[in-house]
Order: sequence, then structure tokens, then C-alpha cells
Amino acid sequence: MKIVLFGAPSSGKGSQAKLISNEFGLPQISTGDILRDNIQRQTEIGKFVESIINRGELVPDNIMIEIIKERINEEDCKNGYILDGFPRTLEQAKMLLKITNIDVVIYIDVSIIEVERRALSRRICPACGKIYNISNKFIENCDDCGAKLIQRDDDKIDVIRHRIEKYLSQSEPLIEFFRKKKLLKTVFSAESPEETYKSVRKILLKI
Ligand code: AMP
Repeated sequence: MKIVLFGAPSSGKGSQAKLISNEFGLPQISTGDILRDNIQRQTEIGKFVESIINRGELVPDNIMIEIIKERINEEDCKNGYILDGFPRTLEQAKMLLKITNIDVVIYIDVSIIEVERRALSRRICPACGKIYNISNKFIENCDDCGAKLIQRDDDKIDVIRHRIEKYLSQSEPLIEFFRKKKLLKTVFSAESPEETYKSVRKILLKI
């Protein structure tokens, strides 16, 4: 099964991807994680995208397309995958449908006010990648592995606002694009990832 998770920044794509991955045994392909890993390792791509990401801009399509083409050809993707954070532009979406067949695009619908609130209270574990929302429960260290949680540089208020603007102008048109292709299924983002996952799961069990 090939799944695209689509939604605004902080809509919960990463948390849903992890839940799907655990139950359905599919790899999560987070383009944000791939880029951050490149930055950490200071690869050519990493050096090029660092300031783009820190400003809340989108990385150019040609780079993203190359990353995805390479990743989905890896062995662990032969039975499918979950795309988390790709595509984000019409160009990327059109290319994706040219190189593969997607079974479903799950759009996580959440208000922009909520997105801003969540992004500001999001913390991540740098060791295992677990995502936390500290507005529900204040926590400094990861429950699972004990590492000290961090805030992503691009989750600071000015950058978040810029990312939301980019989402509205560049990414939101994809909703109509995928609807016309009859691939779109919408779920409303609930209070907790587990609650949202109930709707996601229902959709996936019918595919
Ligand atoms: P994310 O972790 O998905 O929120 O992505 C973090 C940042 O990585 C984004 O704000 C973009 O700068 C960049 N990025 C991730 N995926 C893409 C993509 N498909 N196209 C362009 N830029 C991307």
C-alpha cells in the first residue's frame, strides 16, 4: 500500500505515519527527517538546504524529487510506504503520479490557529524521533529513551508563520488536485493522535 499523508505543518502527519508504520509494517518516508539528517551529517544537500529550512522556505522541487526517487527504490519500499511531507507542490505531486501509483492521499484537516498552537508546543526527541506536545503535559525528557527533548529551529514563531504561508500558497492547491484524481480522503485532526488514528485506520482497512 502506498500512502501519502498530507496536511499543514504540525497537523500530525509524523505521528500518524508512525502509528500506520507500526500497524501495517510500512516504512515512513519523512522528507523533513531526510533533510534534517543531511544537515546533521553536513552532506552537500544538507549544507545547501540548511538555511532554506531555517527560514521556513520550501526546498527546490528538483532536489526533493531526486531524494524521493532514490528512497522509494530501496528494498524496504517494495511492498509500499508512507510519504510524510511529500509532495508539497503541484510539480512534486505530478511527478509522483508519473513515477508510481498511489493508493490513497489522507488529508489531515486542522485549523490554522491550531497548527500554530501545536507547532509552538511541539518538542521532539533527538534520539528516537518521538513527538510530544508540551501543552497537554509538560515534559522535558523522552518517556521512551530519556533523552532531553528539543524544539525544532523551524518551530519558532516567525518561521512557523512563514511555513504556514508557504503551505497555504504552495501546498493547499494539492487538495483539489488529489480530489480530482479521486485519491483524497479527509480526516479531521482530533485532540490526540490515537483518536485521529481511528479514522485513518478505518480508511486504510478498506483499501
Ligand atoms: P517537515 O519536517 O515535513 O515539517 O519539513 C521541514 C522542512 O523541510 C520544511 O519546512 C521544508 O523546508 C523542508 N521540506 C520537507 N519536505 C519538503 C518537500 N516535499 N518540498 C520542499 N521542502 C520540503
